Amino acid sequence: MNAFPVILSAPSGGGKTTIAKTLLARRSDIGYSVSCTTRPPREGEVEGRDYYFMTRPAFIAQRERGAFAESAMVHGNLYGTLRSEVERVLASGRHVVMDIDVQGASQFMRAFPESVTIFILPPSADVLLERLRSRKTETPSQLAARLQSALQELQQVGEYEYVVVNDDLERAVASVNAIIDAEIVSRERVKNLRQQVAELIAQLEREIENHTP
Ligand code: 5GP
Repeated sequence: MNAFPVILSAPSGGGKTTIAKTLLARRSDIGYSVSCTTRPPREGEVEGRDYYFMTRPAFIAQRERGAFAESAMVHGNLYGTLRSEVERVLASGRHVVMDIDVQGASQFMRAFPESVTIFILPPSADVLLERLRSRKTETPSQLAARLQSALQELQQVGEYEYVVVNDDLERAVASVNAIIDAEIVSRERVKNLRQQVAELIAQLEREIENHTP
């Protein structure tokens, strides 16, 4: 299997986490890379499922050890993707879906250049604002910081191969599914293509020889 990482990025409130969770529930050929963060858990979040929650010194120690494929400061907290998480999922033959911010995505591409990059775009500013406000987990200054980073993240859309507008969850999930399916059969990802074609050609040549009077 030609398993590869799939990076989903979006401005905060873009809905990428919901898309990632829906894909994971529906496709058995996909796994999730659980990120590390120094942010405290939100209500309902589970250690090891949503994130590995860690203290800042523990995070920095891991980073110094080179354990992260990428890491970034997002809204005042550190986030990072463990190389071991990505490799664990890829080794099981599953594509690995990652929900990482735009700064992390470009670092991650250096570590895993075979990744597919997808930017999830909110359908309008009103929808983005509404999603951010309805979360209600943030203080006004935290909300302002999220708006500021959403603005900066939107400017990075040109770095991504694919753009999916999240106006409707089912449609957005269908688009991400289609991207993954197309990438699986893209010529550069097909394993042993030269060898497969060389064998076909050799067999055809033998046949031609046998049929030549
Ligand atoms: P939240 O705190 O709302 O779960 O996530 C905040 C932001 O951090 C989101 O934009 C999310 O994509 C990003 N994020 C989550 N995990 C990682 C990670 O491992 N690396 C990076 N660079 N960003 C992450």
